[in-house]
Amino acid sequence: MVVLKILVINAGSSSLKYQLFNTDTAEVLAKGVCERIGIGDPAGSGGHIKHTPAGKPTMEEDFPMPTHADGIRRVVELLTSTVISSMSEIDAVGHRVLHGGAEFSGSVLVTDDVKAAIKRCFPLGPLHNPANLTGILACEEAMGDIPQVAVFDTAFHQTMPDYAYTYAIPHEYAEKYKIRRYGFHGTSHRYVSAQAAKFLGKDPVGLKIVTCHLGNGSSIAAVKDGKCVDTSMGLTPLEGLPMGTRSGVLDPAILETVMNGEKITDISEMLTILNKKSGMLGISGISSDFRDLLAAKAKGDARAILALKCFTYAIKKYIGAYAAAMGGVDCVVFTAGVGENNADIRAEAVEGLEFMGISIDPVKNNTRGTVDVTAEGGKVKVLVIPTDEEFVIASDTEEIVKAL
Ligand code: ADP
Repeated sequence: MVVLKILVINAGSSSLKYQLFNTDTAEVLAKGVCERIGIGDPAGSGGHIKHTPAGKPTMEEDFPMPTHADGIRRVVELLTSTVISSMSEIDAVGHRVLHGGAEFSGSVLVTDDVKAAIKRCFPLGPLHNPANLTGILACEEAMGDIPQVAVFDTAFHQTMPDYAYTYAIPHEYAEKYKIRRYGFHGTSHRYVSAQAAKFLGKDPVGLKIVTCHLGNGSSIAAVKDGKCVDTSMGLTPLEGLPMGTRSGVLDPAILETVMNGEKITDISEMLTILNKKSGMLGISGISSDFRDLLAAKAKGDARAILALKCFTYAIKKYIGAYAAAMGGVDCVVFTAGVGENNADIRAEAVEGLEFMGISIDPVKNNTRGTVDVTAEGGKVKVLVIPTDEEFVIASDTEEIVKAL
């Protein structure tokens, strides 16, 4: 068997997270993050790197990084001085890319055409796609012609039917500006729905699963026969559930009322409010972090209680809606920071859904890891499955590179 070592990269505008995988054992050999790339004067002097080789303490250093390529070069040095002996041991690089538009329904080997397509999607993912492409170009610069694979957050959702992804706006705008539901967290929804089928010992074909990815950003997907048929995020990751700082779905007329009242003339300022100052933070006025909200709830804070209630109520409505969309539901999966760790939110989200055969056992619900929390007699399986997007990126990269 050919064992590959694959570097997984998630590049942001001034940061770059990485993990080095051994694909045979799915072991993470090392992981870390380059922060403050391009920040500080002289150029990039504010750079900082955290590097954790498996089983060893985290190493931290200030390291000037004018560009992402400088970061990658340093990461390769750190890897070769801790867990591998030379760069040639790294067989391929897998990249998380936020937006693949309607161009990608799966992961692909990076070519000039793919780079051009990622660029065409800049208007759809203006904060992430340029950074993701920078990460790809940085690896080319620092690691030569090593094979690279792009794994898109949107890809899994490309199987949605047109009536699920179409917005009811004048059709010419939809076509001209590529406005439609794309959905995000696709790598996570794909992974946990496949893991759920495996856990239940069933073929994904024939299963109706609602996957709830609940973290700082949250989305829910309806997965039928192993394929996504609907999801809560839309053209951008702003739609759907109220999130840490994002509003989620709302009446678009609210924008006019707030902008007129607050004398906001710039629509992007309004969108910043909806993306960064709304959601749990906006309702509670306390924090976007669910742990802070739970602490405030424990002290009886009314707005923290309201924020959490809005969140769990929205989850419940999506579970009901997606059960209706699929003509039933066999399994509900909770994942990501909140979904994996917060038993109270899981319990509240399914409270009152006994009529659909969904209920959680309070004792089982207090366990961690991959766990079946279904109450005795519950018709619908309720599972908690830790997500692992980096592992999926490494596996897709392995599959594509092995076929070269
Ligand atoms: P991201 O969307 O940034 O990937 P995560 O999936 O890591 O986010 O989720 C982050 C959220 O998970 C935070 O709001 C945090 O409060 C919450 N969280 C993490 N651990 C716990 C925990 N033990 N109990 C409750 N909430 C938790």
